[in-house]
Amino acid sequence: MADLLVAKFGGSSLASSEQFAKVKQIVEANPQRRYVVPSAPGKRDSTDHKVTDLLYMCHQLAEHNIDCTEVFATIAERIEEIHDRLDLEVDISSELQRIFQQISAGATADFVASRGEYLSGLLLADYLGVPFVDAAEVIHFDDDATLNAERTATALAQMAQTHERAVIPGFYGSGPDGQIFTFSRGGSDVTGAVVAAGVDADLYENWTDVSGFLKADPRLVSNPSPIGRVTYKELRELAYMGAPVLHEEAIFPIRAKGIPIHIRNTNEPDAAGTLIVDDRAADGFHGVTGIAGRPDFTVISIEKTLMDDERGFFRKLVSVFETNGVSISHMPSGIDSVSVIVPAEEVRFKLNKVLEEIRIYLHPDTITVQDEIALLAIVGHGMIRTKGVAAKVFTALAQAGVNIRMITQGASELSIIVGIDNEDFASAVAAVYAGT
Ligand code: ASP
Repeated sequence: MADLLVAKFGGSSLASSEQFAKVKQIVEANPQRRYVVPSAPGKRDSTDHKVTDLLYMCHQLAEHNIDCTEVFATIAERIEEIHDRLDLEVDISSELQRIFQQISAGATADFVASRGEYLSGLLLADYLGVPFVDAAEVIHFDDDATLNAERTATALAQMAQTHERAVIPGFYGSGPDGQIFTFSRGGSDVTGAVVAAGVDADLYENWTDVSGFLKADPRLVSNPSPIGRVTYKELRELAYMGAPVLHEEAIFPIRAKGIPIHIRNTNEPDAAGTLIVDDRAADGFHGVTGIAGRPDFTVISIEKTLMDDERGFFRKLVSVFETNGVSISHMPSGIDSVSVIVPAEEVRFKLNKVLEEIRIYLHPDTITVQDEIALLAIVGHGMIRTKGVAAKVFTALAQAGVNIRMITQGASELSIIVGIDNEDFASAVAAVYAGT
């Protein structure tokens, strides 16, 4: 069992007093869960509002000199419900009153938004009987609202010396003059990661309302199995292809230290969840980890006899895209041919210009453009060194009647990427899922 855990709980995990009770059970089930990072109370059901959204609304109203008493009352009600039902002692009414005054007096949007986590932290600290450490004291930003990693690391290391346990609210920190800054939306994940790195945790638990990541999009595959274990690199590939995963900013601080992240479900604490591990921990091939993809790419294919012998051909080709501000997603090449795959929206209004420049600088024999191409990535560490995976993928696609327009294999050997027509996307995901 890991020695030191940082547990971050998302908004839905803290949406009501019942959810707080689940969190307490989880925290107390393992004494190693010593640092807890809460989000602001989220939605209790699909018709509900997140406290953070209500706070932003309050700020908007106040900024336009419109009375926000009513919206604030909704926030206060939610906070007081948790306070009263859990029979807490912290003087939350005074806190709420003070925050209302600060909003009315023109507090910044970041300050106002951060109060959701601040209040949630006060309640949770009281409920768990654990000291509250204001994020403003340990998460430090520079003037330009970016994290000051050094100051933050020092402050967290000091905090860990004085506090065996603590509740540290997510989402915000303070700038050089003490002003409050927040991370981008969903930023409590980042706080959790920064705290885990700062206290040298053995594991960063990210508690949410799903039992980990799924092997494929549940809208395309019915009941996909969860991903038990995934490496940071595999996750990058899946995220790039549009799978809903953690924010890059949330992974970076702990990736550098090799701290694994465990995605778990507050509503189903016995479920295995998804463990995100250091790339170095990858050992062999354990099957396809995940399947993800994105529609709407444009493929520009160029043919020219003896292109390989022409010095600078690829450089000139790449620079056409660079000077037009178009990013290249993939560039598979064959003998005398190369395809440049770009996100459709990036060339939409520049296509003619790009094609014209390719003609002028490269004198190709032919250029063809295929629109409405989807890319599908089949990701799994070690797959390229394992026999039969590609065969399964291509058999599954052929049996589903999907025409493969392009195949590429990352140099990292983590994935096989196929290009297919947009309209085949859903059936391709389902077929590959079933066939691998
Ligand atoms: N409460 C913030 C938001 O709604 C941050 C978070 O929940 O992670 O974006």
